[in-house]
Amino acid sequence: MRVDLHNHTYRCNHATGMPEEYILRAIDKKIDIFGFSCHAPMNYDPKFRMGYEEFKDYCIDIQRLQAKFSNQIEILLALEMDFLPNHLDLLYEDLLKAPLDYLIGSIHFLDDWGFDNPEFIGEYKKRDMLECWREYLASLKQMITTGLFQIVGHMDLLKVFNHQPPKILENQIQEVLEAIKKQNMALEINASGLRKPVKEQYPSERIIAMAFEQKVPITFGSDAHSVEHIGFGYEQVIEIAKNIGYKEAVFFRKKRMFFYDF
Ligand SMILES: [Zn+2]
Ligand SMILES: [Zn+2]
Repeated sequence: MRVDLHNHTYRCNHATGMPEEYILRAIDKKIDIFGFSCHAPMNYDPKFRMGYEEFKDYCIDIQRLQAKFSNQIEILLALEMDFLPNHLDLLYEDLLKAPLDYLIGSIHFLDDWGFDNPEFIGEYKKRDMLECWREYLASLKQMITTGLFQIVGHMDLLKVFNHQPPKILENQIQEVLEAIKKQNMALEINASGLRKPVKEQYPSERIIAMAFEQKVPITFGSDAHSVEHIGFGYEQVIEIAKNIGYKEAVFFRKKRMFFYDF
């Protein structure tokens, strides 16, 4: 079975194509379960996400597609939510409680710095990467511990511009994986890194192997921001997961975890 749980829509203002085109492409790619997980509305960096008042329409759009394509593909309705340790007020109660299939928790900011945005790449010169990684991993752990999310999105995203996590932090990475396992969450294998400067899926093979040792469940996501991205890198990441020893992955319906063979 083929599942892709991380896909955006035009509503986040930095993705293109209509949701229906995504579904047609997913069917074409023989995807059995396709999840929309657009960036959640948030009163922070609002130009890169849907407006709060749009959330209802986002749900209606996806539900309409669920009905229309119910004989061909299962469509899940989800959100990718930002976690900012200093802005917990941005974790809106009604979105957390909305009847969604799952929430992907992601960290795209270190304090106020959107570190994966090429616009702010100059900031790397001013930063100590060891400190950045420490802070990033601490935020991840805090996010996981809230128990609000089902999936950890692109776990080592901070490497996007080729700053791999320092070896010395392996214990902290191990602790993050233990926390994922303890919270009954899943670790996302996200192919989008393959089309970014780092040219490697998130997370690295090393981290996936550590996750396998701890029996951490995995999901697959192409993190599509355009129709062409759907299914991108799938064969490559599947191969990596298989070589490490994974045979099963998971998906979520109404926040319940289901296993499948990939
Ligand atoms: Zn995005
Ligand atoms: Zn993301």
